Amino acid sequence: MPTQTSSRPAAPQPVPQANGTSHYFDGVDLPALAQRIGTPLHAYSASAIRQRISELQSALAGLDATICFAVKANSNLAILQLMAQASVGADIVSVGELRRALNAGIPAERIVFSGVGKSADEIAGALNVGIMRFNVESLDELHTLQRVAKAQDVTARAAVRINPDVDAQTHAKISTGKSENKFGVSIDEARRWFAERKRLGHVQLDGLHVHIGSQILSLDPFRLALQRVAAFWRELEQAGHPINSIDVGGGLGVCYRAGTDHPVAAADYVNVIRDALADYRGKLLLEPGRYLVAEAGVLLTRVLRVKPGVERTFLVLDAAMNDLQRPSLYDAWHDIVPVADAPRPLVTYDIVGPVCETGDTFARARELPECAAGDLLLIKATGAYGASMASTYNSRPLAAEVLLNQGRYAVVRRRQHFEEMIAGEQPARNWETT
Ligand SMILES: *Cc1c(COP(=O)(O)O)cnc(C)c1O
Repeated sequence: MPTQTSSRPAAPQPVPQANGTSHYFDGVDLPALAQRIGTPLHAYSASAIRQRISELQSALAGLDATICFAVKANSNLAILQLMAQASVGADIVSVGELRRALNAGIPAERIVFSGVGKSADEIAGALNVGIMRFNVESLDELHTLQRVAKAQDVTARAAVRINPDVDAQTHAKISTGKSENKFGVSIDEARRWFAERKRLGHVQLDGLHVHIGSQILSLDPFRLALQRVAAFWRELEQAGHPINSIDVGGGLGVCYRAGTDHPVAAADYVNVIRDALADYRGKLLLEPGRYLVAEAGVLLTRVLRVKPGVERTFLVLDAAMNDLQRPSLYDAWHDIVPVADAPRPLVTYDIVGPVCETGDTFARARELPECAAGDLLLIKATGAYGASMASTYNSRPLAAEVLLNQGRYAVVRRRQHFEEMIAGEQPARNWETT
């Protein structure tokens, strides 16, 4: 791997910011947009996403590297199209995501398939379209891949997902690289796979993969994981097992809480890769999800009412946990700001949605300029794991999604109609026996 660091310094460009003090996000007037489309509403800045892609791409200059966007972070077709236009591939975890990626114009040869539960049918579907490689997570999956590839009379390209037993120092539910987690296999097990690899007539096992978790804000876990992968790679090469691809996964953290979260810079992250794999000459893959899209998204929501309680004052929004699960699922912090003109006194609120769960809480004891019914708020950094994790819980239709681009907007998912929400359901009319 050439380690030239003569990467052109990226010209500092203003990243579109939705900060509440301005009504504009990527040149689009947010109050007018909320008026036009209604709330709750997911808005994404295309300019901000492009900027993140190009930051990472320029950090990778000189390397034979492909960025494969983790589709689960935001699987909207318009977002995937942005990726395709920027030559970004896809990291998929289901055939549904495969179809989305292909549909958006991401070529199969830039698609990698991860996940512990790929079914034989899913493997067959992905083999059929000729994806770049499978990140294999268990011996049973490796044998399934061999069997399905043999049946199709093709050779599947595969990487073994290593579980490096590294603590990503992130939330337990998004940590994936500890030996207690369900992901990947130990280096000991992977060593046995390679020793037997020639028996796999229809699987070309020549890749390594690692993904230790998400929302990682320190370089140390990356460094440690990559050192372990690099040592294993050297061992394999010496044992006569050529490694043609190393997939370093995703996990780069973003800023959810201004002043507290300090994400690592793309260039520093890539330097860790350059250092750990300095003498590696094969192909590099990266699977960022959150890093590319989280801060490019906001959830626009209105205050339904202010409810004074005995101990707390509740700000009840028209957005809920079904639109954005992260706070209820991971106790995640999202900055929340009013889209307001005049400065107002600060009030402490519990910010909640209408869903009938106490967990439907976006923030507890949060200081906000005083709000009234009808006020527009921004929940920030919702571009990743927001809409893609949404549900219709409480029979709330899926929110609209809008892409913003330099003063213009396009609806990229219309608000779900009631009829769409119940489509497929039917009364138990036709009773059958098996
Ligand atoms: C979720 C996931 C990613 C993306 O993680 P981010 O933290 O969003 O970058 C990458 N690779 C795999 C295998 C994943 O499961």
